[in-house]
Formats: sequence, C-alpha cells, structure tokens
Amino acid sequence: MNKTRQRFIITGAGMMGLSMALGLRQQGHQVDVIEQGQRPDYGDKPELRVSALAHRSRGLLQQLGVWSVLPAERLGPYTGMEVWDRDSFGGIEFDAAEVHQDNLGAIVENAVLEQALWDAAEAAGVKLATGTTVNAQQLDDDAVQVTLSDGRQLHGDYLIAADGARSGTRERAQLPLTFWDYDQQGIVAVLNTSQPHGGIARQVFMPGGPLAFLPLADPHQVSIVWSADNELAQALQAMPDAAFRKQLQAASDHCLGTLELVSERASFPLKMHYVQRWVQQRLIAIGDAAHSIHPLAGQGANLGFADVAALLEVFSDNLQDHHRTLRNWERERKAAAVVMIAAMESFKRGFGTSQPLARITRGLGLQLAHRLPALKQRLIHAALGQ
Ligand SMILES: Cc1cc2nc3c(=O)[nH]c(=O)nc-3n(C[C@H](O)[C@H](O)[C@H](O)COP(=O)(O)OP(=O)(O)OC[C@H]3O[C@@H](n4cnc5c(N)ncnc54)[C@H](O)[C@@H]3O)c2cc1C
Repeated sequence: MNKTRQRFIITGAGMMGLSMALGLRQQGHQVDVIEQGQRPDYGDKPELRVSALAHRSRGLLQQLGVWSVLPAERLGPYTGMEVWDRDSFGGIEFDAAEVHQDNLGAIVENAVLEQALWDAAEAAGVKLATGTTVNAQQLDDDAVQVTLSDGRQLHGDYLIAADGARSGTRERAQLPLTFWDYDQQGIVAVLNTSQPHGGIARQVFMPGGPLAFLPLADPHQVSIVWSADNELAQALQAMPDAAFRKQLQAASDHCLGTLELVSERASFPLKMHYVQRWVQQRLIAIGDAAHSIHPLAGQGANLGFADVAALLEVFSDNLQDHHRTLRNWERERKAAAVVMIAAMESFKRGFGTSQPLARITRGLGLQLAHRLPALKQRLIHAALGQ
C-alpha cells in the first residue's frame, strides 16, 4: 500500500489521547503528545475515577495490545446488572449468560489504564511532552503549527484535541459548542461491603439522582458514582463519614450489607456539551473534548473509544481525500454522541422526578422491559456497546 506517513500533534494524554497516539504510531505515523500533567502513577489503593468499559472498547484496547497487560487484580469484570427505581415497584436485571457472554464489561480504574497506554505509547515511539501546554495554534488547510508553553514550536499535518471537557485546543479554535448544565455533581468514592458484590453492577434511581455501585476486582469492594442535584451533593459532601455511609446503605436497600468508606469523597460538576464541528481544517476533536455526557449509563469513555476506533480506520488508509473521509467520520460520530445524549436526557428526566404518574409509568416500563425477552436482549446488547 502506498501509505503516506503523517505527523500528528495530540493535546491531552487521557485515555483517548493516549489510545489515539498509540494506534496512529502503530500505523507508522509520527506522533507528539502534549500533556499538562505527568505520567499517571497509581498506587496500591483503588483510584477514585473508574470507567465501566463495554466490549467494544475492550476490543480496541485488545487490538492496541494494552488489554492483556492490565493487572487482573485491578480489573473488575461484571457479569450482571441490576437497575431499580427507589420510588416505584420497577426493576430490571441483566445477566451475561442471557446473551451467551462471560461478562457484560469491566470496571477499570482510569489511572491504571492510562499508565498502561502511556507505557505502550512511549515504547512504540510516541513522543510525550509532560508539564507543558499549548500557548498558540495555527491551523490552515494543509498543516498545523503549535507553540508550547516552554517556547518550542511543533509542525504537523493534523492537530487532535483530546484535552478533555474543558479543552483549550477546542476553545482556541472557537469550535461552536452546544452546552447545558445538569446542575448536578457526580460524587465518587470507594467502599468496602460486608456482603460480596457478586460481580453485579447496580444502579438505583432516586428523585435526587441516580446512584451506581460498580464492582471492583476485590469481591468486597465497590466504587460509587452518585449523580446528585447540587444542593443534595453539597449536603452529602459535608456529611460525616458515618452519616454518608448510612445514606448509601439505605439507598442500596442494604443489598451489599454494611458499607465502610475506604477513600475520600470527590465530586465532579456534571455538564453536557458537544461540539457542532468535530473537524475544522486540520483540527479534529475526540473524547470529552468533543462531547461530555451524564455518567448515569457510564458511556462517556465508551463513546470516546468509539471515536478513536473509527478515526484510526480513517488514518489506516492512504488519505487521498481527507476532507471527505473526515467529514464522514464526523457525521457518524456526531450522530452517535447526539443519540447517547438524548437517551441520557430522557433517562434523567424520566427518573429524576417523584411525580406520581411518572413513577407508575417508569415502574411499568422497567417491569415490561424485564419481561419482554426481545426488548431485554436489545438493552443488554446496547449495554455491551454492540
Ligand atoms: C463521575 C464520573 C463517572 C464516570 N464514569 C464513567 C463510566 O463508568 N464509563 C464511561 O465510559 N465513562 C465514564 N465517565 C466519563 C469518562 O471519565 C470520560 O469520558 C473520559 O475520562 C474522557 O477521557 P478523555 O481522554 O477524553 O479526557 P480526560 O480524561 O479529561 O483527559 C484529558 C487529558 O488532557 C490533559 N489536559 C487538559 N488540558 C490540557 C492542556 N491545556 N494542555 C495539555 N494537556 C491538557 C489532562 O491533564 C488529561 O490528562 C465518567 C465521568 C465522570 C465525571
């Protein structure tokens, strides 16, 4: 194949920037990554930021050769999901066996995955600059040029914005953004449970917001994400540990037994955005730089990995007509993000109310989905990212 080697500059060494960099390098391209922080370095304690990765994301990481090097003691495969409504009689359970799978996905600590990606990218020859940012960027139809905060200048064929939800690369390029604030905080923490979690990912919908219990590799340890309205989130953050723990026990209907906090609590403001243009001249936005969604279905990183997988396909070919192929990529990825955002919004609106009629309707909906095998299978396949 007459393949042209391209030069890429990627801002941000999160999960998306690093997987993109590694994939491009494996295709033979030249890649520079600019990261404001340092190489991720996780310790013995479980990290607060985790992601529930679907099979499709795992497929990309397997293809990149990274999945097999992730430490098994830090991977929490889950074989079932239980979703229920605190305020109604509705609930639904999924089991991997129903779709002839060993599991429905795996809970991965972000820093563990980032470190594995970082090391693989470095070994493959990606140039990683740490402790630096981009001060200025110049884009035209054929090339890009960036000036770093340490004064260096880099020249490339493409600039990829992977610098997260508050992407400076996106802002400098003034890519138009659709944006709204959920007025919620995502509270995360790690807890020990007296009852084993059994490899089940659990989510309970409450009027103040959904609460997820994600099973970690330790059978008695879960990571929580409580997406609470701002006022409740502030109260939860201010609570002493014992009171917080009790709230969680009550919310979980005590299905995990007694809970014990083994980490601090952190909170993240929850906002939705997506860029209206994902490609501008030689700039491409991926991951949270392009879209940020509500964490209630744990799909933000999965959406980002799908951006990466599709973009790697674009650059695996000789790009004779990059405008057309990149426009097709943009159309496809934007549609996927908008569908996901709309689904999160209807979930959030449908479950975020204690209005009696809505309560009965969602209870019936969950019961119906549980009893209709075809609908249930479709929901499981959606959870698998298929
Ligand atoms: C509470 C919570 C729970 C979540 N749970 C899930 C889940 O279960 N499953 C799931 O799929 N998704 C989940 N998500 C979403 C997921 O965490 C994100 O979609 C994902 O981390 C985005 O990765 P990224 O690489 O695009 O961005 P980031 O992880 O934000 O990485 C961006 C990188 O860019 C660097 N950077 C930023 N600015 C600059 C700059 N100016 N110069 C240089 N470098 C810069 C940062 O230091 C960072 O390393 C959750 C999100 C939240 C808030």
